[in-house]
Amino acid sequence: MDKKIAEIKQLAKEEDVHFLRLMFTDILGVIKNVEVPISQLDKVLDNKMMFDGSSIEGFVRIEESDMYLYPDLDTWLVFPWETSHGKVARLICDVYTPDGEPFAGDPRGNLKRNLNKMKELGFTDFNLGAEPEFFLFKLDADNKPTLNLNDDGGYFDLSPTDLGENCRREIVLELEKLGFEIEASHHECASGQHEIDFKYENVLKACDEIQTFKLVVKTIARKHGLHATFMPKPIHGIAGSGMHCNMSLFKDGDNVFYDPKDERELSQTAYQFLAGLIEHARGYTAVCNPLVNSYKRLVPGYEAPVYVAWSGRNRSPLIRIPASRGLSTRLELRSVDPSANPYLAMAALLEAGLDGIRRELTPPAEVNQNIYEMTQAERDAASIKDLPSTLHNAVKDFKKDDTMKAALGTHIFESFIASKEHEWADYRERVTQWEIDTYLTLY
Ligand code: GLN
Ligand code: MG
Ligand code: MG
Ligand code: MG
Repeated sequence: MDKKIAEIKQLAKEEDVHFLRLMFTDILGVIKNVEVPISQLDKVLDNKMMFDGSSIEGFVRIEESDMYLYPDLDTWLVFPWETSHGKVARLICDVYTPDGEPFAGDPRGNLKRNLNKMKELGFTDFNLGAEPEFFLFKLDADNKPTLNLNDDGGYFDLSPTDLGENCRREIVLELEKLGFEIEASHHECASGQHEIDFKYENVLKACDEIQTFKLVVKTIARKHGLHATFMPKPIHGIAGSGMHCNMSLFKDGDNVFYDPKDERELSQTAYQFLAGLIEHARGYTAVCNPLVNSYKRLVPGYEAPVYVAWSGRNRSPLIRIPASRGLSTRLELRSVDPSANPYLAMAALLEAGLDGIRRELTPPAEVNQNIYEMTQAERDAASIKDLPSTLHNAVKDFKKDDTMKAALGTHIFESFIASKEHEWADYRERVTQWEIDTYLTLY
């Protein structure tokens, strides 16, 4: 530990860092920053940085507002871009109470608690490979985001249609400087839509990377006069943005989802984890698709899932099993969107999967037909449920699922419900343009 502290102090000097950003994520998935001058470094490294928790949505009540930031020393990083005030470094922090206890409302700390439960079952790592998608929109003369797309390229298109390419390339270069291992970056189906995939990592690091990724994408897009958004469905009539999550469990460096003797080369553990993901699908949707807008994406016709099913081949179901085996054997959950708080989503998904393992659940039969072409009767016969159609329905199912409560802990579970019920209540009373267009003159 002391060695790391010395190292960080040395690096701060060598790189001439002037400011230090202490980052953490609130319950709604928003990155929060406390920025301090580098003169405060000793205090930071000594876990003495305090902030007012009551100013953060869903964190604490006024009377218990003091919270402490404990930096995770493995997350030290100097941002590669210079500001006019010198270089900025960051540390991702866990939130602690004044008594020195991990704070129950801290999503990152909560994920760590879930990882300990996983270790009790004999697994050593839960790995995540995320595929976040985003849109690039033009800015107007006042630098405000517009809904004008930046190009009209399509899936895997190259220049000259793909004007966002330079921007995306710079994003990739900056991410590489920050230590990301980028596996692929391409234009997605919709105009102005992009995807950058990074190599799988243990879930805590992967979630940190997702949060850092969003920050880098937005920062670089701005430099190119563009606005990057991770809103799940910014434009009606074209594809929305998902964040497929590729998950696997490891034990001492071995992927325990892999079993060469099985017909699909999947282990019992993989089938049970899969069964848990199917069983709790309606329960975790509120966490993986947390916005009113998330449900505008989960509709037929845009490669986003609508039904709870799995397949080894087909791309329409909720869960797909990509072809690679061995160390990269994994389950791909296709419902998650990039507005999800990654720490909460992964705690919910891990606990869903572990519930399948603990209860030795068996997954339903694989569905290789196009589910969208099946009739309701055919889906009923195959016990294929649908995903919640609105945030309201998703929250109702989330509240009923005790596994979700166990995954998030009472504090986060209740704050999340309160916040999402408020969001829905605010939305449902609005009269939309669609209603005006459809009803105003007809009635
Ligand atoms: N954009 C699609 C979604 O909403 C995914 C497209 C793809 O990656 N094949 O999930
Ligand atoms: Mg992809
Ligand atoms: Mg994609
Ligand atoms: Mg994918």
